Amino acid sequence: MTKTDRLYYTDCYLREFQARVLRSEVAPNGFKVYLDRTAFYPSSGGQPADFGAIAGIPILEAVDEGDEIAHLLRQAPEADVVSGKIDWARRFDHMQQHTGQHILSAAFERIGNYKTVSFHLGEDSSSIDLDSDRLGVKQLEEAEDAANQVVFENRPVRISFQPAGEASRLELRKPTAREGEVRLVEVEGFDLSACGGTHVSGTGAVGLILVRKVERMKGLTRVEFLCGGRAQRQARQDFRVLSEAARLFSAARDTVPDLIAKQSQELREGVRGREKLLERLAEYQAKELWQAAPVTGGRRVLRQVFPAEESAQAKMLAHALAKLPGAVALFGVKGEPTKLFFAQTAGGTSDMGSVLKQTLTKFGGKGGGARDFAQGGGLEEGRLEEALAYAQALVAQADRPGLSGPGP
Ligand SMILES: [Zn+2]
Repeated sequence: MTKTDRLYYTDCYLREFQARVLRSEVAPNGFKVYLDRTAFYPSSGGQPADFGAIAGIPILEAVDEGDEIAHLLRQAPEADVVSGKIDWARRFDHMQQHTGQHILSAAFERIGNYKTVSFHLGEDSSSIDLDSDRLGVKQLEEAEDAANQVVFENRPVRISFQPAGEASRLELRKPTAREGEVRLVEVEGFDLSACGGTHVSGTGAVGLILVRKVERMKGLTRVEFLCGGRAQRQARQDFRVLSEAARLFSAARDTVPDLIAKQSQELREGVRGREKLLERLAEYQAKELWQAAPVTGGRRVLRQVFPAEESAQAKMLAHALAKLPGAVALFGVKGEPTKLFFAQTAGGTSDMGSVLKQTLTKFGGKGGGARDFAQGGGLEEGRLEEALAYAQALVAQADRPGLSGPGP
């Protein structure tokens, strides 16, 4: 077995190359193709694999198998010598994110000795985990400023190789356990790391480094960040969202947070005001109903079925009626589930809790309450009228003590 010559180790800007096919093996989703040399970066160290094509056949994945790199292809190439072509947009994006990560990690070390314990380069954003959960906005902004300063200075990024023994004597940001030859990535005067990833040749090519989300976990802080093209696209998207919000308010962008706070406050006050008005309305309606209701057994019994959307009003109306002399409200509300509100003027002769219980026992559903107010529901919508009539008969029975109930 020969080692795959990793062309990206020494030239991260190589996009096309020629190679000899050593062998192809059948794999679950196609073929694993081995070349004598490759510019394709395999998934490792937090950085995803390069895509592109070998002999015109798209690459599905590149896997680091130690000495060799396996290229996963849907079909095996027929020729012995093939050309490889890297998906450059994807690769360059990875170079921006990965070099940006080295700079940002070094910046966190500089500003507060926060050490990076892991790195993930994702489809949409990347993240590093720092070994402390005690970072605030101040530390994040300081690190972001320090990192971008290094970008603005356009420092050289150099790749070199050292025997492991030599490398262990250097001031690496993170000690390496690698043996043999160690690949070093240096951001001039700022960071020195053992790393096998692909990197830009000068810090200016990283573009803006933008810290985004921060998530605190036990003993760790996960810092999400975007570099270069990703930072630009995100800034554009943020600008669009903010501009749209400002347009909806017919206001300047920087006033949007204050306007949202003000409108939320007005909305809360509006809802409270509406509730008060509905209560007042219920009082007037209750008076009208009370006056029009016939007096039986010295009381005025009001029986009514409301549509589902008037549930809140029905309840308020029942309470309002119970404030008037000698009133009984037996209200049903349609909907899923149905509702019942039974109320009487304080000191009335019925026990509304008991009337509700008896009604529910006969018609189904659940609920409960006290002597002057009870609520429940869940019975069949089609039997609401019947249930209210039954409840009214129970109430009438209380007004004429000694008579038998309304029957089964
Ligand atoms: Zn790295």
